[in-house]
Amino acid sequence: MLSLENLKVYNSRQISVLKKRSIRSIKDLLFYFPRKYIDRSKPLNLQNTKAGEEVTFIGTIVNVNTSFRGKHRLSAIVDYDGYLVQLTFFQGIKYYGKVLQNGLQAAFSGKVDFFRNQLTIVHPEIEFLTGAELLHTGKIVPLYKTTEMMRNAYITSRTLREGVVEGIKAIKNSLVDHLNNSFLEQARLLPLTEAISFMHFPSVMEDVQKARERIAFDELLVFAAFMEAKKEKVKQLQKLEIPETKNELRKIILDILPFELTNDQKSAIAEIDILRKKSYPFGALLQGDVGSGKTLVALFSALPYIEAGVQVALMAPTEILARQHYRNFLDYVSSIPMFPIDILLGAEKKVERSQKIDRIKRGETRLLIGTHSLLQDDVVFENLAFVIIDEQHRFGVEQREKLRSKGVYVDLLSMTATPIPRSLSLTFYGDLEQIVIREKPANRKPIDTRLFEESQLRKLYKGIKKYVNQGRQAYIVYPLIEESEKTQWASLMADYHDLEENHFHEYRLGLLHGKLKPEEKDNAMEKFKMGMIQVLVSTTVIEVGVDVPNASVMLIRNAEKFGLSQLHQLRGRVGRGKHQSFCILVHSNHLTPQGEKRLQAMVDSDDGFFLAEKDFEIRGAGELLGLNQAGSSEFRIADLREHARLAQMAREYIQKDMSLREKLLEPKVLKNALNKGLVLFAN
Ligand code: ADP
Ligand code: MG
Repeated sequence: MLSLENLKVYNSRQISVLKKRSIRSIKDLLFYFPRKYIDRSKPLNLQNTKAGEEVTFIGTIVNVNTSFRGKHRLSAIVDYDGYLVQLTFFQGIKYYGKVLQNGLQAAFSGKVDFFRNQLTIVHPEIEFLTGAELLHTGKIVPLYKTTEMMRNAYITSRTLREGVVEGIKAIKNSLVDHLNNSFLEQARLLPLTEAISFMHFPSVMEDVQKARERIAFDELLVFAAFMEAKKEKVKQLQKLEIPETKNELRKIILDILPFELTNDQKSAIAEIDILRKKSYPFGALLQGDVGSGKTLVALFSALPYIEAGVQVALMAPTEILARQHYRNFLDYVSSIPMFPIDILLGAEKKVERSQKIDRIKRGETRLLIGTHSLLQDDVVFENLAFVIIDEQHRFGVEQREKLRSKGVYVDLLSMTATPIPRSLSLTFYGDLEQIVIREKPANRKPIDTRLFEESQLRKLYKGIKKYVNQGRQAYIVYPLIEESEKTQWASLMADYHDLEENHFHEYRLGLLHGKLKPEEKDNAMEKFKMGMIQVLVSTTVIEVGVDVPNASVMLIRNAEKFGLSQLHQLRGRVGRGKHQSFCILVHSNHLTPQGEKRLQAMVDSDDGFFLAEKDFEIRGAGELLGLNQAGSSEFRIADLREHARLAQMAREYIQKDMSLREKLLEPKVLKNALNKGLVLFAN
């Protein structure tokens, strides 16, 4: 009854194409939501649009021009109600040259920009409309994403609309809402059928807003159910018993520690102590700002396990960081003879490695520090009881779980690099206990952060030399995140030579980037630590946790390309010693007003919690959660920036309604949710 074959609009070829796009039933079709809408209910005033704004409008092509100046490109002028917009294409020029004929009427959408006072859209999306649609009666017309395969089978926005109209009629009386009316009313949410209908055919754009809220709530509900079930399941498990000890190790280390633990450090350790004593394995997320002293919390929470004779593994994302932890810990435990600590890295001599592997297997090594190398199959523990993940966003869930699976029901402490906004962490890490360090050690001097344009670089280099002459060290950081990007790569290498030859020829420069071999990276970092390198020119590989107190200046190029949390994390590399530190944010000469506002937040605030919230507002969850591509693994409709209230409600709802929870977690329902792009990836 609910199969696509019941619809009159589609022939069998179209149905098979739809199925290939995971639209297998009428319900799937109804959940294939529009990508955007043409809103003709309110005339769009292009004159008042701002750079960066998304617009969609129906216009007429009045001029097409292929130019070969510099880069090959095609530009076309489109007339919208007497207002001229320039469209620019750098790719697919042949194709667009063919289709963009004078007089063509189509729907254009994209982000607007201003170039020489002309409103332009680079690579707009174009929706070719049929005659009937141009006249079309509806005030708001939904546009759907179609692939080439779909278009070849004549599945267009128009035929999708027709299918949806028919589908809504067919399903109207049989679709059961899993939420009851009184709850919907109280929560101010739409009934499901109404939400679906508004999603496709809103009469005003506010309808879409309301519809999205309802759909978002359902997504969040499934997610919350999944998290809740996971939490419950863990509570059934019986972990290895960890004998209580006298905590001698802690006492010894506290005695030699040159400073007091902060109150937040103490309470974080106390919270973990309580969790350790539970009968089931705990999972905790330790959040704290850069430099808040998470490492010591990790060490102190590991000590009772070590003292009790069971094993702890600490995994860090880079060799530099793993080594640093190892050395720091060695320092802390220097007065404890034969402290059973070891480090395992990627490239090690065969004999050495096999000796380490043996010690781990026999349980002699009680605290093992390492990188991804800990995940290798030959690393087998005698009695692994506690796993600590540093900079958890750099690891995938599978990696965290793989390490954890090397013991029986192992406790887990996941540490963040910078704070995560609360709504995000409660949702995505809802199965973990949330432990927060807000306080920073008292001896911290604020870092002086300032903004500059690229044109001032020469002056800034002079400034850096002044501090280097006083014995300080400096970082110059480039936004090379994907080191494979050829053009950016060239600019880093070219710049490095320029710096070496023309600006810092009397100084000892070093280069650090992801393409170096691990030994080369460590070597550069080691030299920097020892002061042999005065100015370290680097990509973001230094971002993670590195600690060189004598480095007091950081200059960041193209700062506008980084997220705020990442900038804050980078900035945290300075301000670690007794000297006043500086963070110089250098941006390109065409910074947008929003870009400037964003960077200004860095100048105004050194509060990682505040900056994380700002970052989230501006850039979404992707980077903060360590997802590779922003948006690719988030919810399909739900966006916690808008829907934090709903997420909270969904959590509360699912805790009360067990039967709905079970229903949502039926494999079929869950699989369906996954197919629709709701990715259950959290821990
Ligand atoms: P993060 O939370 O960013 O991982 P770290 O654990 O690397 O921070 O700590 C940053 C620095 O602060 C280290 O040099 C560490 O020795 C120092 N530190 C940690 N706790 C304290 C404290 N209570 N008082 C003073 N310094 C501290
Ligand atoms: Mg750290």
